[in-house]
Amino acid sequence: MKKEIRNRIDIIQGDITKLQVDAIVNAANRSLLGGGGVDGAIHRAAGPELLAETRTLGGCPTGEARITKGYRLPAKHVIHTVGPVWRGGHRNEDELLARCYRSSLELAKAHGIRTIAFPAISTGAYRFPLERATRIALSEVKRFLEKDDSIEKVIFVCYDRRCYDTYRRLALEILDTP
Ligand code: ADP
Repeated sequence: MKKEIRNRIDIIQGDITKLQVDAIVNAANRSLLGGGGVDGAIHRAAGPELLAETRTLGGCPTGEARITKGYRLPAKHVIHTVGPVWRGGHRNEDELLARCYRSSLELAKAHGIRTIAFPAISTGAYRFPLERATRIALSEVKRFLEKDDSIEKVIFVCYDRRCYDTYRRLALEILDTP
């Protein structure tokens, strides 16, 4: 069982906007109207049609997720989720970040999405400590895949080497790789 879960999770270093998957996840802000970091990269690559659609959504609370089309992206859909801003760890940040992964996966499942890629939500401008965020990301995805077999592949996309090394190291511990 453990081995099967590990085979459904990939960890790569790269640019999430280049991936041809059913859905990429965007680390958005509550307005859903675009921003910096991965959000900016996704809006630039998807084109102005994406902003036109997100304008109709009326924002998104922290921890929840919304889905749009992918427009000019190779990915068919974008799942926009809003991570918590790190405020020291006593403002429910862990639970809110876990909720981002759960809501995104539930929404993906409801839309028949089988392949999904996540960036390291909240670890950029929102300053969530990388190792703590990575533990949450890996644990939540593992828990979801254990009870669900509709999602075939989850790809964690790390933009830089430090993120990639952290994911690889913690995957050995949390996903119990050989
Ligand atoms: P947040 O506001 O949730 O912290 P950021 O976009 O600032 O979101 O950062 C989240 C993570 O996304 C960071 O690890 C950052 O390095 C990474 N990132 C930035 N651009 C890309 C990209 N094109 N593909 C994948 N990850 C990216």
